[in-house]
Amino acid sequence: MKKKTLEDIQVNGKKVLVRVDFNVPVQDGKITDDNRIIQALPTIKYLLEENAKVILLSHLGRIKKEEDLENNSLKVVSERLSELLDKPVNFVPETRGELLEKAINDMKPKDIVMMENTRFEDLEGKKESKNDPDLGKYWASLGDLFVNDAFGTAHRAHASNVGIASRLETAAGFLMEKEIRYIGSTVENPERPFVAILGGAKVSDKIGVIENLLKIADKVLIGGGMTYTFMKAQGLNIGNSIVELDKVDLAKSLLEQANGKIILPLDFAVAEEFSADSPYRYTDYKGIKDNEEGLDIGPKTIKMFKKELKGAKTVVWNGPVGVFEFENFAKGTQAICEILANLEDTRTIIGGGDSAAAAIQMGFKEKFTHISTGGGASLQFLEGKELPGIESIDHSIDCGCEGSDCEC
Ligand code: AMP
Repeated sequence: MKKKTLEDIQVNGKKVLVRVDFNVPVQDGKITDDNRIIQALPTIKYLLEENAKVILLSHLGRIKKEEDLENNSLKVVSERLSELLDKPVNFVPETRGELLEKAINDMKPKDIVMMENTRFEDLEGKKESKNDPDLGKYWASLGDLFVNDAFGTAHRAHASNVGIASRLETAAGFLMEKEIRYIGSTVENPERPFVAILGGAKVSDKIGVIENLLKIADKVLIGGGMTYTFMKAQGLNIGNSIVELDKVDLAKSLLEQANGKIILPLDFAVAEEFSADSPYRYTDYKGIKDNEEGLDIGPKTIKMFKKELKGAKTVVWNGPVGVFEFENFAKGTQAICEILANLEDTRTIIGGGDSAAAAIQMGFKEKFTHISTGGGASLQFLEGKELPGIESIDHSIDCGCEGSDCEC
């Protein structure tokens, strides 16, 4: 059923609480990647243009002890946002209290207030992360409407998303809407042929994703560290390659269920050491020696994957196909980026996490239909699970249909 979006709510002159995902990397007090702030700009700018009073909430990092407070203040983020918008952002260094309430009461339309990191509330009793009802109620009392644009935390039921949404009229922001449209609807109803590419370190992180994609995709191409658990399941020698021995039986059963849908690599870049400058060679899947480990897919695999991807109407990719952090072993991941960037009439979606980071780092940011901003959230979406942050957004009042058949 269609979710309420920004265009379905009347924001003029209203105090609009906006949950954004400003969980950006910060090193020595400096933001090293502001992509998440940039992704939230369309929603913030729209609300400002529509005369709303914009009250921003976000988490930053994890707060477990007193010392974490200093390194995880959102002040630095408020300064960057102010630069990007070229307008003042009133940062309030608390998550509740008189200062915050006064700042909000003094707001005029088009003003922005950003409160301190919502997870500062986790220091005592994990109030934010455990969706403490009093905290959700308090935050909801500060605004008239709620906009959830934080896809990155949509797989969690926290006070700053579900807690507020259950008490105020709630709409999806533009970023959230985009994530629902591209990942959610693709998984529900993909245009075919639908090919999935799965990589990354471990099978165990992606069991749910593999199982779900085996049901809905036409082909599942496997790369990365998880390959070797599947090869072990086939009785092949994998040398020192990364493997999860307790998942070999599971891999065996996935291969049986797959009915030929799972495509494993044909060859690998193998090295004797897990390091950036380790000498390496290419070998086929039967040639890995006991003292070698597979760190990337090889040229034959790239050629085969290219053939499998030709003509695909939908491609979803999650997880690098090699140790892309080392230049020598980033070639497979780079090749996948190039193949996808050159597909025509194909919806290409990268499901967050390391493959998104790799694609952006390698300069392919503009070449895909959609690069998800959520790692865990996009994985859960790909598993076909409901995300509490999305579930708690109101349904569109214009949508008269009921039930899961609704395609509004
Ligand atoms: P994930 O977070 O599960 O997507 O895993 C990403 C990580 O998997 C990256 O840090 C990669 O370096 C790692 N990875 C990919 N291929 C391999 C491999 N063949 N051996 C070890 N690690 C790998």
